[in-house]
Amino acid sequence: MIDIYKEQNGYKNKIKELISQRFAESPPLAHVHSFGCQQNVSDSEKLKGLLAEMGYGFTDDQNEADLIIYNTCAVRENAETKVFGNIGELKHLKDKKPELIIGICGCMAQQEHIAEKIKKTYRQVDLVFGTFVLHSLPGMLYNALNNQRVFNLSQSSTEILEGVEKIRDSKIKAYVPIMNGCNNFCTYCIVPYVRGREISRKPEEIISEVKKLVSQGYKEIMLLGQNVNSYSYGFSELLREINSIDGDFIIRFMSSHPKDATPQLIDTILECNKVCKHLHLPIQAGSNRILKEMNRRYTVEDYLNIVNYARSKKPGFSFSSDIIVGFPGESYDEFLNTVDLIKKVRYDSLYTYVYSKRSGTKAAELPDNISDVQKGKWLRELLLIQREISVENFSRFIGKTITVLVDGEGKDDSSILTGRSNENIIVEFVGTPDLIGRFVKVRIIKAMNWAMLGEIV
Ligand code: SF4
Repeated sequence: MIDIYKEQNGYKNKIKELISQRFAESPPLAHVHSFGCQQNVSDSEKLKGLLAEMGYGFTDDQNEADLIIYNTCAVRENAETKVFGNIGELKHLKDKKPELIIGICGCMAQQEHIAEKIKKTYRQVDLVFGTFVLHSLPGMLYNALNNQRVFNLSQSSTEILEGVEKIRDSKIKAYVPIMNGCNNFCTYCIVPYVRGREISRKPEEIISEVKKLVSQGYKEIMLLGQNVNSYSYGFSELLREINSIDGDFIIRFMSSHPKDATPQLIDTILECNKVCKHLHLPIQAGSNRILKEMNRRYTVEDYLNIVNYARSKKPGFSFSSDIIVGFPGESYDEFLNTVDLIKKVRYDSLYTYVYSKRSGTKAAELPDNISDVQKGKWLRELLLIQREISVENFSRFIGKTITVLVDGEGKDDSSILTGRSNENIIVEFVGTPDLIGRFVKVRIIKAMNWAMLGEIV
């Protein structure tokens, strides 16, 4: 890996030189757009860090960019369709500005059939690279700047890129990946194929990153991984170590796999004062047969045991989850098992998805005889029930004063501030922008199905 870094440093210098010749008046601008999950956003922050080292500035407006990079997601088909739509539109920009460099990277780009399609159909794209070769951006970009089309789907690197000063999107919440990849091969999921097997970062790298973030004033540390609780150096130990860092900040993490969620993890969450008392624990389905078909390796009973353990230690312990509706072969009765489960667990929030067939996965081979209309109907049925549960759950806070980390202004009204409770529930209240990035006390006055309304105490 050291050799790769050396080689890439050479390319960084070459790009700096090239930039000083081609952009004598002002630095070139890069537009980096992330589609998909927080892991992708975090990878984009690294890419931006590398680009900054090479002399690039940044713009939110792709019309004024000299380099556009789309960091893409492969988890659902509609996300891919959207990216192709966006790539198609870039043709006009490239026609107007032929020296513009267009790059596509991330999970979607890692798939060979996608890279092939881009190669043949989207001639405006100069650079396609997967999730394993972020560290090689300088060399790839250098070639693209010298009129070579670059396609790099190599999976040869098994190390996580360290030592790059990330350009972060937020000044309040920082994403800190602790691992990459996944070993679980859930039958519906493309992630193990596009991000490879699990690799954990060394605890000392993570701790030093968090210490720096806290000293820079970050208030929320979000530990990321496809399956954080299988972190190979011990996730509970890592949580305890981060919790012991001095400073005024909170710790969240996602995602956790139910098969690795142990009473020990719950105990750690409860003992660590900075760790939020909320667990995002994707169940995906409420039928044991479907869970087996999904290769999830836990049963509904195992899952409820961990929920009940947490609630026995702390009533009101908050859970959220992911649900897939309409897995191939799922019957209406099996769907109703999922409804039963959400009534039992009473999640504070749910991320719900209609099953999306991903080619290359095992589930893509299964007969799927449920129509999209039917799946859509089930999804709406589930959402109605969850909305009722959310509003009833959030009512437990009415009249209580809670601590909220303020993260921004309301979309339509700048006198409204938004933040999140410890349980990760959205809270809205009237306040002034100087409170953004601070912890404030808010009395809850109303519960809705997606958020709570409050007033500053
Ligand atoms: S745990 Fe399953 S769903 Fe999650 S990333 Fe791994 S394979 Fe995909």
